[in-house]
Amino acid sequence: MDDLLKSNEEYLEETCSVCGRRLTKYGNKQLKDGILCRSCAIFSSPFLRDEDFAEMTVEDVKKHLEYRRENAHKLESFKKSVTVEGRYDLYIDEESRNMVFSKKRDLLKENPDIIPLDSIKEMSIIEEQYLKEDGVDVLMELELDSDEVKHVGFRINEFPGINNKTEEYRKTCETADAYLKAIIAVADMEEVL
Ligand SMILES: [Zn+2]
Repeated sequence: MDDLLKSNEEYLEETCSVCGRRLTKYGNKQLKDGILCRSCAIFSSPFLRDEDFAEMTVEDVKKHLEYRRENAHKLESFKKSVTVEGRYDLYIDEESRNMVFSKKRDLLKENPDIIPLDSIKEMSIIEEQYLKEDGVDVLMELELDSDEVKHVGFRINEFPGINNKTEEYRKTCETADAYLKAIIAVADMEEVL
């Protein structure tokens, strides 16, 4: 009984605009015309930022979740032919000309968005100062010609705010370089850099 009361306290009165389940206190996303629960947010693309959710309508999210189900299904036939290991592993399927950035080796567990190589409009590595401390983050940024995920961005260094005189920084830059080289080699895309 105590457990039941405890778990009830974690719920709010409001419900998710997409699946109708009661919202929990944390992990909700504000949408343009509603609120998305944690479970729906977790199944969304990991590359959607809060500002992306804020511009999406409930209908947009329903379509997005449908796309995510299709993505998971397509991953079953994804063939890893090129691999660059990192905080996010890059896998390229040269035959289908698709790639993914995945935190897990098991793509079916992670469901990373399939990125067609031909959808890349811009690709860059950016160094960003970490807060006000004496450290940097090295970021991978991709702009995509896609209806679902237009922007893919993530930190390449394992821990935020690394010093740019360390071995960790040197290794991070090596990984960044390896990502670019691997993608360019398959994508034939000099013009986007
Ligand atoms: Zn939901």
